[in-house]
Amino acid sequence: MAKNSSRAIGRHLLHIPGPTMLPDRVLRAMDTPIIDHRGPEFAKLTKRCLEGLKTIFKTTNPVIIYTATGTGAWEAALINTLSPGDRVLMVETGQFATLWKNMAEKLGLKPEFIPTDWRHAADPTVIEAKLREDKAKEIKAVCVLHNETSTGCLSNIAEVRKAIDKAGHPALLYVDTISSLASTDYRHDEWGVDVTVGGSQKGLMLPPGMSFNAVSNKALAASKTSKLPKSFWSWDDMLNMNKVGFFPYTPATQMLQGMAVAIDMLHEEGLDNVFARHHRLAEATRRAVKHWGLETICQDPKSHSPTLTGVLLPDGHDADAFRAMALDNFNISYGASFGRFTGKMFRIGHLGDVNDASMIAALGVTEMALQLHNVPIKKGGVQAAIDYLIAEHGSPARKAAE
Ligand SMILES: *Cc1c(COP(=O)(O)O)cnc(C)c1O
Repeated sequence: MAKNSSRAIGRHLLHIPGPTMLPDRVLRAMDTPIIDHRGPEFAKLTKRCLEGLKTIFKTTNPVIIYTATGTGAWEAALINTLSPGDRVLMVETGQFATLWKNMAEKLGLKPEFIPTDWRHAADPTVIEAKLREDKAKEIKAVCVLHNETSTGCLSNIAEVRKAIDKAGHPALLYVDTISSLASTDYRHDEWGVDVTVGGSQKGLMLPPGMSFNAVSNKALAASKTSKLPKSFWSWDDMLNMNKVGFFPYTPATQMLQGMAVAIDMLHEEGLDNVFARHHRLAEATRRAVKHWGLETICQDPKSHSPTLTGVLLPDGHDADAFRAMALDNFNISYGASFGRFTGKMFRIGHLGDVNDASMIAALGVTEMALQLHNVPIKKGGVQAAIDYLIAEHGSPARKAAE
């Protein structure tokens, strides 16, 4: 028998930073008969999704949909635009940045990896300096994660763009927005991003298994001369078929059914409200963590992630054991730890279909679990989060009087 029967009852609190909990409305939209993926009804669905995604990436250019996890879209971004031996500048913000760098190496590219301590975002001044050093303009691309999911640091992409421009360097800009898309403001066109990589299973409130490339005209031009081999990932075939509402091969039909509704839901709430909700829940979480006397992994107040918070446990407390205990006793899942923080931290996801109520539940459970695990904390972190949320909402009576 399971240690605690509560595990089987009620909802599992999936507070990992993706995959995220799905709205029932999205699940119901997917629970529908399969239709012909080359029929007229499907073409309408495809077009609705492709147009909808443009509003999420904030681009007027095409967005390409892959039946693949985010990792696939990373690969697609690189191999559609680059050639063997090309130099790329990447920033070691954490585990996910490291995985992307490893992929670039395996693909025959030559990444230069700008180090960080995994507690700060990408530094645009360092990017600018590296590009200025490259007098021969050999660096073909700058790759940055918008939100580093392994630590909870958000990089400022508009500033990275400015750094590239200030250096007068022609490198393309690639941004991974997998764990920030549809939960944090993101502007593919305005920020001059050449390839944006997105994924379905985080802020977009869909299951894992779909990923995206939003592309600029400059990236499309680069794809004409790129020499890395590509077949399944080729943008050309996709863009041609997408024009008439189809794919070169069978797409994940039910995911598209869900996507159309997820995008509707984001617009019904209003994207700015979606972003404000994520900022509010992130701040509430940080207030609780601070009150408990624990440290967030991210050390720069300007870079705190709106979608997840990495929490460092005091020395001598095994974070993996803590997560296992919390799952067993309270049916909650937190994100695991990686690299230099393995066993030292856990990550609280606050993205997707989350609201004040679900967040207070998660923080309440976290405060219980920390105590049960004998982590020395100051009680009352949840109250600190509640106080902040009340202040953010204003009292209903006061609002009515306004
Ligand atoms: C989740 C995530 C990935 C990996 O996506 P998969 O769907 O697991 O392939 C890559 N980058 C970031 C920033 C992520 O959050």
